[in-house]
Amino acid sequence: MKTVFFDVDTQIDFMYPAGSFYVPGASALIRRIAALNHFAASQGMPLVSTMDAHSENDPEFRQFPHHCVVGTTGQLKPQITMLDKRITVPNVHVKLSLGDAQQILLEKQTIDCFTNVNITALLEQWNASRYIVYGVVTEICVRKALEGLLATGKEVVLVQDAVQSINGKASAEMVGEMQRHGLRLGTAAEVMSA
Ligand SMILES: [Zn+2]
Repeated sequence: MKTVFFDVDTQIDFMYPAGSFYVPGASALIRRIAALNHFAASQGMPLVSTMDAHSENDPEFRQFPHHCVVGTTGQLKPQITMLDKRITVPNVHVKLSLGDAQQILLEKQTIDCFTNVNITALLEQWNASRYIVYGVVTEICVRKALEGLLATGKEVVLVQDAVQSINGKASAEMVGEMQRHGLRLGTAAEVMSA
């Protein structure tokens, strides 16, 4: 089964208490997210790491705290979540040439990774039958990734112990609703033993 891993927005501003938009609890997930990312590489499965790539006065900062501005440390990902062979796919039309890349850093300027103009072409290159999704924030950016991936009609698995919500109630309601639309749930251990 062709599987693609989706590591959503696990950037320093969200993942560490010193980050500008820390998601409480997220720092405890970094090692598990790194393990999932390296597992994907060990199995030859592509990894998409979505990345907020904001400008200094991004319109999104009217709604959310300042975060993930290009050129700042907070916009980067924790080093242990990075794979050796990686390429960046910016949010402008590019000719995709993945080569031997293990990790695709997919940039975006909103909460929705499906606003990257290259994502459809990217997913078509792999024609995966299953997507494994984790990261932050469950009911915001992870939600958008799940919605877009479920719309492809393929199997989508949310790694429950590798996501972090801000609003636990909203997150639980969202997950319940998505399960009724086909979302599957799993744990990191299950994903890595399959
Ligand atoms: Zn953002």
